[in-house]
Amino acid sequence: GNNVDKMERIETTGNTKYQGRDDRATSEQVLDPRTRLILFKLLSTGFLSKIDGCLSTGKEANVYYALGGTTTTTAQTTTKDPNPATATEYAIKVYKTSILVFKDRDKYVSGEHRWRNGYCKSNPRKMVKVWAEKELRNYKRLWERGVKCPRPVMLKNHVLVMEFLGTSGWPSPRLRDASLNSKRMREAYVQCCLILRHMFQRANLVHGDFSEYNALWHNDQVYVIDVSQSVESDHPSALDFLRKDICNVNEYFRKAGRLEVMSTRQLFEFVT
Ligand code: ATP
Ligand code: MN
Repeated sequence: GNNVDKMERIETTGNTKYQGRDDRATSEQVLDPRTRLILFKLLSTGFLSKIDGCLSTGKEANVYYALGGTTTTTAQTTTKDPNPATATEYAIKVYKTSILVFKDRDKYVSGEHRWRNGYCKSNPRKMVKVWAEKELRNYKRLWERGVKCPRPVMLKNHVLVMEFLGTSGWPSPRLRDASLNSKRMREAYVQCCLILRHMFQRANLVHGDFSEYNALWHNDQVYVIDVSQSVESDHPSALDFLRKDICNVNEYFRKAGRLEVMSTRQLFEFVT
């Protein structure tokens, strides 16, 4: 388990590729045995060759950077010494199994017909697994319907592997951190509006936490991330969540982007 050990060292040294990280928070992280086992298996089966740093540590999840191994894809060469230039890059989202954070997520799950069964409030590990499954399914649906997002690759319990959005080991910035000129800013706004619309109309989903923090600026385009709390558009609170998403987008582009934006009402009409 050299690789997993190394991963823990990475965490304890706070070495991360993500700018604006909190080193103290990072150094307090320890991987629980279940997570270690899952990651170890991904490495030992050759699905991954390397887990190489932490992209983000958050309340609900940590995201790691990894390289695909020899069994990854047919398109990739089976290099013994993979580097970002030749190997497939992945982002691995590891959900935290602490109850505290997930308790207040009830409002998203209750009212979701997809999750009537299997959501077990008393068991944090099952709960977190449901959230991870939800995110995988939502990403899959978005990906299939042509909404720009990371391609979901696989899920094992609370560990979600997806396409890494970035270039040669460098993660693409969140919209919040991308310094865009006014022309790009305008394009990004239009793309955000379209993401909300396409999520709603093509995928029947409302993001539920859309903002400049959950959108990445990748190859001069907006990609949506963090869709574990996204709900079906027939969820009883879907339109309330959507209104909030719309306000977030409008606020950001009006203030930080200094754009003339649509009214909440106009954008709501456009999306629905
Ligand atoms: P928390 O809110 O607890 O911080 P989260 O649930 O918000 O975690 P995400 O928003 O999905 O988790 O991801 C956290 C961060 O990890 C993102 O802001 C982004 O910087 C990075 N990230 C997530 N997915 C990818 C990806 N596919 N490629 C590159 N970076 C990613
Ligand atoms: Mn997020």
